[in-house]
Amino acid sequence: LWGQAREELQKIVGADSFSTWIEPLRLTGVEDGTATIACPTRFLSDWVSRHYSDDILKVLDRMGGPVQRLSFETRSQTARQVAAPAVKCPAPRPAGEEELAAPLDSRFTFENFVVGKPNELAHAAARRVAEGGPVTFNPLFLYGGVGLGKTHLMHAIAREIQIRQPEARVLYLSAEQFMYRFVQALRDRTVMDFKELFRTVSVLMVDDVQFIAGKDSTQEEFFHTFNTLVDQGKQIVISADRAPGEIKDMEERIKSRLQCGLVVDLHPTDYELRLGILQSKTDSFRAQYPGLQIAPGVLEFLAHRITSNVRVLEGALQRLFAFASLMGREITLDMTQECLADILRANDRKVSIEEIQRKVAEHYNIRLADMIGPKRVRTVARPRQIAMYLSKQMTSRSLPEIGRRFGGRDHTTIMHGVKKIEELRSADRSLAEDIDLLRRLLEA
Ligand code: ADP
Ligand code: MG
Repeated sequence: LWGQAREELQKIVGADSFSTWIEPLRLTGVEDGTATIACPTRFLSDWVSRHYSDDILKVLDRMGGPVQRLSFETRSQTARQVAAPAVKCPAPRPAGEEELAAPLDSRFTFENFVVGKPNELAHAAARRVAEGGPVTFNPLFLYGGVGLGKTHLMHAIAREIQIRQPEARVLYLSAEQFMYRFVQALRDRTVMDFKELFRTVSVLMVDDVQFIAGKDSTQEEFFHTFNTLVDQGKQIVISADRAPGEIKDMEERIKSRLQCGLVVDLHPTDYELRLGILQSKTDSFRAQYPGLQIAPGVLEFLAHRITSNVRVLEGALQRLFAFASLMGREITLDMTQECLADILRANDRKVSIEEIQRKVAEHYNIRLADMIGPKRVRTVARPRQIAMYLSKQMTSRSLPEIGRRFGGRDHTTIMHGVKKIEELRSADRSLAEDIDLLRRLLEA
């Protein structure tokens, strides 16, 4: 039920709002007309109940019914960042090319694409293809993990070609849509029309081609379409979540054709790129939330801590801005940690407090047992405070939890230790360097 309801809700609220607000929710049960929804954080449940209750009620009532009330429960265990790509809703049956192509997202332009080391090659190749001229990279095959910008670049290419060559017939669609159309054509006995439509485009762009792996007749049809267009010197752009050679259940001859042009990958983001993207998104959000203040260090914190993919990073920022504007407050580090607790937890680097204690003890040449022991001499107490500080910074553990792992110390002791290091850190260069080094060692 929830799976279907989610699809419905996505159509109603749009992909962005969906991934920010609805996706983290779980339906845990329906009883006596009350549907219980589990939310990873209090903030999320407040927001959703305020803004999306009616939509959720309506959909649940229609699909599972009767549902008259929603009850939200906050359970930290339900935190799970699902990085599934947005499911595009199938468009109506093919009548002409306009209906065949998937709509382009107006935000996915080259101007809005932040370039860094991990994506510079893919970006350059995309630009080259978009600028037209003799078809040199054909096909262009872009691949990379979820949320790294494949779809963004594909839309940017399509848009740019359309601007430069208004007469060109650019057809962009997902492999899923390709299959859907093909199956529909088979059913309606309009395969000839289908072939005709595809084989008369100037540029064919197929997103997430891994989707048709294992779907034999669709693969076959795709292969023929592909060959016909390449033979006519038409540009083809393909994306997938992995390299052509690594797509399972795809015929060898198709894989080798896919590789015969230019294959470039989008690497996982690095810190600089994430920070650049956050800054750029912040600038564009400013128009939407005028007067919004962000404390220094917040974007850096996010770039450090949210490493999974750009979509998650964007969703986090959007939620944070909405929250801050709702509260009418400046975005601080504390607010960020509270508001994004679920996302931060899902992105935890899996550094454990024990590891931190071990590394710090090693570094300062003290015994591991002293980390949790009672000794108060400076040579032991200071490293212990550094370990507390790093535990707060690098894990999502609460102060009481950290306290327990430091020999059952009280949370105020931990807070005091963290504050102390924060103060010392800004005054003492060599301590700051020590901490950075330790952090890097732990992140490696
Ligand atoms: P993919 O198709 O690889 O799964 P998308 O292209 O859908 O990923 O990107 C996910 C989100 O991240 C989109 O909103 C996109 O605009 C954004 N994004 C990804 N990379 C960048 C980038 N380099 N600069 C700006 N936004 C980006
Ligand atoms: Mg995509």
